[in-house]
Amino acid sequence: TEEMLQQAEKLTVVGQLAAGIAHEIRNPLTAIKGFTQLMDGAMENHYVSVILQELDRIDNIVGDLLILAKPQVVHVEQENIVKLLSRTVTLLNTQAIMKNIELITEFEVESIKIACEPDKLKQVFINIIKNAIEAMEKGGRIYIKLRLLREGRILIQFIDEGMGIPEDRLTKLGEPFYSTKEKGTGLGLMICQKIIRSHHGTMDIRSEMDKGTTVEVTLPTHFNDRKMGER
Ligand code: ADP
Ligand code: MG
Repeated sequence: TEEMLQQAEKLTVVGQLAAGIAHEIRNPLTAIKGFTQLMDGAMENHYVSVILQELDRIDNIVGDLLILAKPQVVHVEQENIVKLLSRTVTLLNTQAIMKNIELITEFEVESIKIACEPDKLKQVFINIIKNAIEAMEKGGRIYIKLRLLREGRILIQFIDEGMGIPEDRLTKLGEPFYSTKEKGTGLGLMICQKIIRSHHGTMDIRSEMDKGTTVEVTLPTHFNDRKMGER
């Protein structure tokens, strides 16, 4: 749709801007962090630890911006997406259990190879599942489902029972730095969006307040061009 295209344009411009800024900030930031850590060891002043905490926040944001800015043409591999998905779920299981959350997987097939950059897709899955976990303060279930669609595409659904996203905020999700979390960067979904697009896939989010949120990702099993999408 028109709106989705505009969203995509925004993503490209912001991504380029992010690249420049993140690179410029990283070096001085590393130096400041290093010296502040030395100061922290040398004196008994709690302001120093506050400074360090805030520096960590900046570091998180810069890290996310750098991910956003990474070049998109990469090594495409044939990877079993079912395996990739279950490994990611296993990775996050401890975190989920600690919050009384059950991660339930329903995969239509045991194995399906798709052309992708596995590490990038893993990052997408982690971001989405983490968001789901963070939205479920009272515990509950998160379903992770994989189905085959016609025409060589797959559909992956992440369904949570969390707090949901208000309608007016749903439209803001593509914008950078929109976060309702104290430690959030508001860049996670942008990163997902960018990675999925570069795989010629789609990402959609539906949500109902106090009921939960569903994130749907579709991906092609093959693409025609040898290189990944430039966006
Ligand atoms: P961050 O997680 O750093 O806040 P994201 O881009 O991952 O940034 O998410 C942006 C915002 O979207 C979150 O702060 C949250 O308000 C909302 N959000 C994302 N996923 C969910 C979800 N599954 N349930 C409820 N809210 C969500
Ligand atoms: Mg997030």
